[in-house]
Amino acid sequence: MAKNGIWVCLEQTSGKLASVSFEMLGEARRLADTLGTKVSAVILGYQIESLAQDAIAYGADDVYLCNDESLDLFRAESYCTVLGGLVKEYEPEILLMGATNNSRTVAGKLAAKMELGLNSGCVALCIDPESKLLVQTRPTYGGNIMADMICPQTRPQMCTICPNAMEKLTPDSTRTGEVVVVKVELDEGDLRTRVLEVMAKSADKISLTDAQIIVSGGRGLGDEKGFELIEELAALLGGAVGASRAAVDAGWIPYEHQVGQTGKTVRPKLYIACGISGALQHLAGMNTADVIIAINKDEDAPIFGIANYGIVGDLYDVLPIMIEEFKVTLVSV
Ligand code: FAD
Repeated sequence: MAKNGIWVCLEQTSGKLASVSFEMLGEARRLADTLGTKVSAVILGYQIESLAQDAIAYGADDVYLCNDESLDLFRAESYCTVLGGLVKEYEPEILLMGATNNSRTVAGKLAAKMELGLNSGCVALCIDPESKLLVQTRPTYGGNIMADMICPQTRPQMCTICPNAMEKLTPDSTRTGEVVVVKVELDEGDLRTRVLEVMAKSADKISLTDAQIIVSGGRGLGDEKGFELIEELAALLGGAVGASRAAVDAGWIPYEHQVGQTGKTVRPKLYIACGISGALQHLAGMNTADVIIAINKDEDAPIFGIANYGIVGDLYDVLPIMIEEFKVTLVSV
């Protein structure tokens, strides 16, 4: 049986839990039920009291609430200090964190500081029935294989989890749990980082990781201008714009749109891949979409192997027809 349970470090921004937080809680719940142990959530920030009940509703048995003004704006240094203190004191068996920019930074710092093993960007977890160790699965060798890794020596067994890789539970608002209010004692004099200004990204675009519909473009677009069609279709459908790494590397679209092993993992209801061949590294980021439509002029393109609907043709012929059809259909409903 796991010593001090499974800990999940939840990520929040402006008092709102990130989607990956709920996904990790769901996975932790399943693992904890296998091990016969409990799930503890850690939340760091300021004015975040209401998030404790959310964490419990989504699977936590107890919550360590680090609610302090010094944690209001994210700083890897302060988050790492507070989380490290808790890990030392409570000695969890397993620690899960999001594979997001912020949590990855904290996880790396913490692992280095405490000399822990860290497995980054996991997409599946399970418990080895014999050793009871956490088996952590992640793409490796350029995404060509899935590697199962274990951490037999250091504790906690620690890994970061890709957003959209795991399933959240249906929230149960009747669940109850203990909330432990953690006294945060940070000396600003010991911290080398100051946040001078936070510049919010424009809020008019839908976030790729949360989007229910994604229209993605690849090298088959031929140039940057091709993304105008992708954007038009995405806007019409109320979706977000994605891209393959080839399109990002060509400088046609910023990296934040990249889907795949070294980009974002997405799980939309509908994914429309335009001029994307379907390399394993791209599929790793979108193959759990509910419905995949592929448009490619090569009928042997690997993307057709996972697509629910395939359109063999030139995207410059197909997309304008789709856009016109959707304009008519969406206006008439
Ligand atoms: P291509 O493979 O060149 O495919 C272009 C497709 O467009 C072809 O199938 C072609 O038939 C079709 N096409 C051409 N013209 C038209 C047209 N007019 N109409 C319709 N179809 C047309 N890739 C990612 O996407 N995301 C990642 O996160 C990622 N991470 C990687 C990590 C590592 C370590 C490595 C080694 C690679 C990674 N890659 C990633 C790169 C990946 O291997 C592929 O090179 C990349 O996905 C190819 O992008 P693409 O499909 O747009 O281009």
